[in-house]
Amino acid sequence: MFSFCTLTHLIVEFLVLLIEYFSLICMGLDKSWMKIIDRTQLVYEKGVIDFIEVAFIDLEEGKLIWCPCKKCNNNFFQFKRIIYEHMITIGIKKRLWYMWSS
Ligand SMILES: [Zn+2]
Repeated sequence: MFSFCTLTHLIVEFLVLLIEYFSLICMGLDKSWMKIIDRTQLVYEKGVIDFIEVAFIDLEEGKLIWCPCKKCNNNFFQFKRIIYEHMITIGIKKRLWYMWSS
């Protein structure tokens, strides 16, 4: 049996998760980071992290997506961690800026 406090805590946690989920979907993803040349900038890394979170939002853990980096060029499926590394170390394919920006 849940106590009233436990139940309230669970409801609050659920609502916070729900708000985070919808804000991620509705925020319209800022894509300006894709044009940053210096990939060591925190703005670029934050953009990559947000992009990956949205790209994987409906996928189960361990699933793969096309990697938009210059090396993979959307031709190879990669895991979330690899995509992050490629986008930071290699960079995003330039023509994909426009695809993701439209
Ligand atoms: Zn890649």
